[in-house]
Amino acid sequence: MNKQQELDNIAKEIEKCEECKVGKQGKAVPGEGNPDADIVFIGEAPGKTEAQTGRPFVGRSGQLLRGLIREIGLDDRNDVYITSPVKYLPDGGTPTSTDIAHGRVHLTGQLAIIQPKFVVLLGRVAAEGVLQKKVFVVKERGQVIEERDGIKYFLTYHPAAALRFPVKFKPALKEDFKLVKQLTQAS
Ligand code: URA
Repeated sequence: MNKQQELDNIAKEIEKCEECKVGKQGKAVPGEGNPDADIVFIGEAPGKTEAQTGRPFVGRSGQLLRGLIREIGLDDRNDVYITSPVKYLPDGGTPTSTDIAHGRVHLTGQLAIIQPKFVVLLGRVAAEGVLQKKVFVVKERGQVIEERDGIKYFLTYHPAAALRFPVKFKPALKEDFKLVKQLTQAS
């Protein structure tokens, strides 16, 4: 079985997973991109547009994220993999800690298949969901905050934060993406 088939199997598990669906709505959003990607971007949970289409980061935050990925010279559909710890749209919009803890089951499987060199954690939910430790994004962003099993975990803001507070967070997010470019090109 190749990596794409293994990822497709996880996507099927997510579609059937009753635990994933508790308190959520819409289509499953397992993630998409290159199964051999060196870089994986991890967000929070699907929004409305994602839940309608089944694709990650296709709403407003997604347009910002995908634009930033292209600005650092990567193709957002063919070079990277994009996903979230939570695979369905939470009823209240924000995932609970139970949602995030359960989502780790599927996310860990996806990372084990892809085996990226870098994981870009977009915000607190991504960081805490993946690394299972508390992070303070404002203080710790713009750097590799953990290196584990051959993967470097780089922390930055979630693009939704930059949309909500453009003056405060957008320039920092752009700076962080330049660092991602330097880091990944140096590897
Ligand atoms: N925000 C996320 O964290 N993930 C998506 O897929 C869309 C918006």
